[in-house]
Amino acid sequence: MADKWTPDSWKSHEARHLPRYEDARALADAEHTLANYPPLVFAGEARALKRDLADVAQGKAFLLQGGDCAESFAEFHPNNIRDTFRVLLQMAVVLTYAGKVPVVKVGRMAGQFAKPRSSDTETQGDVTLPSYFGDNVNGIEFDPVQRRNDPERMVRAYSQAASTLNLLRAFAGGGYANLRQVHQWTLDFMGRSPWADKFALTADRIGEALDFMEACGVDPNTVPQLQGTSFFTSHEALLLPYEQSMARQDSLTGDWYDTSAHMLWIGDRTRFEGSAHIEFARGIGNPLGMKVGPSMEPDALIRLLDTLNPNREAGRITLISRFGHDKVEAGLPKLVRAVQAEGHPVVWSCDPMHGNVVKAESGYKTRPFDRILSEVKGFYAVHRAEGSHAGGIHIEMTGQDVTECVGGAVAITDEALGDRYHTHCDPRLNAAQSLELAFLLAEMMTM
Ligand code: PEP
Ligand code: MN
Repeated sequence: MADKWTPDSWKSHEARHLPRYEDARALADAEHTLANYPPLVFAGEARALKRDLADVAQGKAFLLQGGDCAESFAEFHPNNIRDTFRVLLQMAVVLTYAGKVPVVKVGRMAGQFAKPRSSDTETQGDVTLPSYFGDNVNGIEFDPVQRRNDPERMVRAYSQAASTLNLLRAFAGGGYANLRQVHQWTLDFMGRSPWADKFALTADRIGEALDFMEACGVDPNTVPQLQGTSFFTSHEALLLPYEQSMARQDSLTGDWYDTSAHMLWIGDRTRFEGSAHIEFARGIGNPLGMKVGPSMEPDALIRLLDTLNPNREAGRITLISRFGHDKVEAGLPKLVRAVQAEGHPVVWSCDPMHGNVVKAESGYKTRPFDRILSEVKGFYAVHRAEGSHAGGIHIEMTGQDVTECVGGAVAITDEALGDRYHTHCDPRLNAAQSLELAFLLAEMMTM
């Protein structure tokens, strides 16, 4: 029998990857401020996402989750938000049209700041400083003042998340996401990609379908599903002082929700049994993601599922596998079998990013597009063999024309990585690579 859960019961559990704050008073002030701010999302919205994810768990829909590895204060700009949103819309249209399934859209946006790091410190020359843990903790510049953990950064992150979410809600519901706009979503620089032509063809067909509907007497403007879209937010629930401060009791059900995002996930380094992060997550009503990779044993996975989803509610848990292109086919089947044997309803999603990081000759951290694609193929092969539903994809991407992942149809070469390498943490797919991945995914779905 688990002990009673409270928003701060995680404090008596082992916490890894949490920053230490020198100034306890400043931390308490920031937490107090956040606890009195309005929730960013409403419990009813988190429940709506859970219902959509239950459809995914049952094989009736597909989850598309994507956005930055780490959002940053420096890259905070409406154009960046718009461009990421529209590439996600384009991907969703391709998957819906070519893959013929409803797509649940979830951004790694409006709160994805905190990062776990492999080392607590970073050394350059003969200077050693604390590592960068995300803009809501400290600054990325290699400077002793910037690298100090500052709780006030959580308040700034809340404010950035609030305005990001506000714009996303406006785009999703205010006409931008109307299917009649589908041609307008193409970004200028995508013209160089062969997939942009293919997207234009898809957009033409959708336009014709809407014209046909209209000719038959159905005005597409009266169909809410064609006028706008549902769009949800998510981030890794890593920085527990922030997440705890955003926990609110729902007045309708009395249940606790983490109102910092619709969906929260637990990272590969903090999802061990008995961890502070598992303890926090088990008590909130939001849909939860959990990363699973080569170090996850089937028995431990089942115990974690029993802790996080004792009532076996469909839509509650999304397992995000991140094995690496060369390990997925050997490592994933035993997890799928254990979950099936226990009858736990989960969404299986594939993160083809975090197991495929390599250091390029140029010194940049990159992810070869071929390996990303190969992990997705492996993921599909495993689920086909096991009779389970390959339910989603979880990617680090941006709407910008960056050069961070090598390969793709408009091939980014090792030498070109330095041209526009802007990420604050891991390399992201650029807009053209993201669209290409969506077309290739749609092919796998219909195979
Ligand atoms: C991430 O999603 O940014 C991340 C750190 O992934 P993982 O926990 O799978 O390593
Ligand atoms: Mn990452």
